[in-house]
Amino acid sequence: MTSVIASSADQQQQVEKTNLLGLTLPAMEAFFLEIGEKKFRAVQVLKWIHHHGVTDFEQMTNLGKALREKLARRAEIRPPEIVSQHDSNDGTRKWAIRVDGGGLVETVLIPDGNRATLCVSSQVGCSLDCSFCSTGKQGFQRDLSAAEIIGQVWLAIKSYDAFQQSNSRVVTNVVMMGMGEPLLNFDNVVAAMDLMMEDNAYGISKRRVTLSTSGVVPALDALAKVSEASLAVSLHAPNDALRNELVPINRKYPISVLLESCRNYIDAQSDKKRVVTVEYTLIAGVNDQREHALELAELLKDFPCKINLIPFNTFDQSDYQRPSGNAVSRFWQVLVDAGYIVTVRTTRGDDIDAACGQLVGQVVDRTRRAERYRQAADQNNEQATGQS
Ligand code: SAH
Ligand code: SF4
Repeated sequence: MTSVIASSADQQQQVEKTNLLGLTLPAMEAFFLEIGEKKFRAVQVLKWIHHHGVTDFEQMTNLGKALREKLARRAEIRPPEIVSQHDSNDGTRKWAIRVDGGGLVETVLIPDGNRATLCVSSQVGCSLDCSFCSTGKQGFQRDLSAAEIIGQVWLAIKSYDAFQQSNSRVVTNVVMMGMGEPLLNFDNVVAAMDLMMEDNAYGISKRRVTLSTSGVVPALDALAKVSEASLAVSLHAPNDALRNELVPINRKYPISVLLESCRNYIDAQSDKKRVVTVEYTLIAGVNDQREHALELAELLKDFPCKINLIPFNTFDQSDYQRPSGNAVSRFWQVLVDAGYIVTVRTTRGDDIDAACGQLVGQVVDRTRRAERYRQAADQNNEQATGQS
């Protein structure tokens, strides 16, 4: 009787194997208990996957043969598929990644001195439709699974063939600032960030894993109870009237409510010295005037934060303009004079469309562009052949 159940369960598992790539330590322990194995196997397998980059159970030499075979029947370690990889002149590397069901997302690695920051996507598209964001223009397609999110870290390290080279880390920082609103894919993002910070997986410090949100307040309140990741908030405007236009979710959760939730988030952290990164995309003539800077300085005066200014990155479907370097400097100066720590995000990977807000909208376009280039090249070839 038992064997009949076991064998039919096995058959079912053959159809739908558990992808171990996205399992946190507790989830991996639960998996091993569920298949009748000891809990300590979880740490061994986590290390094989995330320290050594192994996807084949046969290579897991500290597991017995029977266990390796059982795992091969019941489970798999399946990273998402890389569709393309582009290297920028400045060292930025960008991948287009196909996720189950056919959607595309992008991941970008930005090296900078001793640091290398991986910008990770959490959804295919985004439902929040911020007026300056190309991802928003695509609408929402679907959430990524935890395996597809952590799989972006795995693939980045794999692409440099750098698993096991523990003293030269390919990824030192992760920002959840790729496509999608991470707080609208809560469980999978929390699981993936847990793996980023888990010593038996990537062991990145909690200060170096940052979630960026446009302000989904109830989810942010919930996050305070389960995560210690750093927080960035996409503010982009110093008052509700303007923010309602740029970041429509502001109509539901206005600035005062959002800042209160951010404050609660950092107050809940064990490490009391944390601050929130306030992101402010500067758009020429829209939110980049002196009065906006002064209003922002006033708004944030008792708020524990640093400010990151992001000059708007243009994309085809947008009429917004990027402000001049002088306009950015003037805005920056007002905030510095008011006592803030302010950084300006330099645009990286511009030659490969890897900058903030340029993701995948451009991949689709790039494919069309590639098609146009190919047609043009074919025509040229034909002409060349005709002439010769
Ligand atoms: N959904 C999350 C995270 C992804 S967006 C959020 O909105 O925070 C990551 C950052 O890039 C956000 O601060 C976002 O406002 C910014 N961004 C989006 N489009 C941009 C563009 N075209 N130019 C500059 N920054 C942009
Ligand atoms: Fe979504 Fe963030 Fe883009 Fe807004 S800025 S549409 S929340 S990805």
